[in-house]
Amino acid sequence: AGSGKFFVGGNWKCNGTKDSIAKLVSDLNSATLEADVDVVVSPPFVYIDQVKSSLTDRIEISGQNSWVGKGGAFTAWNSSKTSAASGSFLGILKGDMSSEKRMRSFIGKKAAYALSEGLGVIACIGEKLEEREAGKTFDVCFEQMKAFADAVPSWDNVVVAYEPVWAIGTGKVASPQQAQEVHVAVRDWLKKNVSEEVASKTRIIYGGSVNGGNCAELAKQEDIDGFLVGGASLKGPEFATIVNSVT
Ligand code: PEP
Repeated sequence: AGSGKFFVGGNWKCNGTKDSIAKLVSDLNSATLEADVDVVVSPPFVYIDQVKSSLTDRIEISGQNSWVGKGGAFTAWNSSKTSAASGSFLGILKGDMSSEKRMRSFIGKKAAYALSEGLGVIACIGEKLEEREAGKTFDVCFEQMKAFADAVPSWDNVVVAYEPVWAIGTGKVASPQQAQEVHVAVRDWLKKNVSEEVASKTRIIYGGSVNGGNCAELAKQEDIDGFLVGGASLKGPEFATIVNSVT
């Protein structure tokens, strides 16, 4: 981990029932969490109110995605405003479906709109397996960074999550060296293309099959400033281990 504040997000995705969410919230409320870590969880939208009214305010709440602008006739989407009204402040904006240029620019617009509404965003980038095997990891990540950089007015409320697509939900975690190498490259990209200040202040977190067993080694890497956790965030005690992995 670097010198900035560690950041751990739990992405609950499309999981949970009222009862299982109540149990998870109760486990999180009783967990001991390192003081110097920003902790955010992203329940499915339908459970945000339930979580907001029962979860300790030590942990912040986030939506998982948002429409690109104000609400309207967009079936099955939620707006950033819905997210804000629920008290959540971050949107996880996935870059992993974004190899297509049009989609990357759409995600950039969502980030810009969420920021303009006073929300923070977790901007996800990452390569597919075939792109890694073709030696294109950096190029792909840089292109995705550019789509965000072209769209956002400021990086103050942006956390970048490096999530190699081949590692998400697969049980195949990037090695600490593989992750560190990309994090350094992304930081360097920010330095060259945005500013030295943004490069040093922006947290770059790792996501992809992080669990209680592999988090400590990853957290030792200088440029890994936290984690975005899927599966393992559904278990309160294991999520607490990951939050507390920063030494
Ligand atoms: C994620 O949901 O962002 C994620 C990385 O999932 P998992 O930890 O399950 O791989």
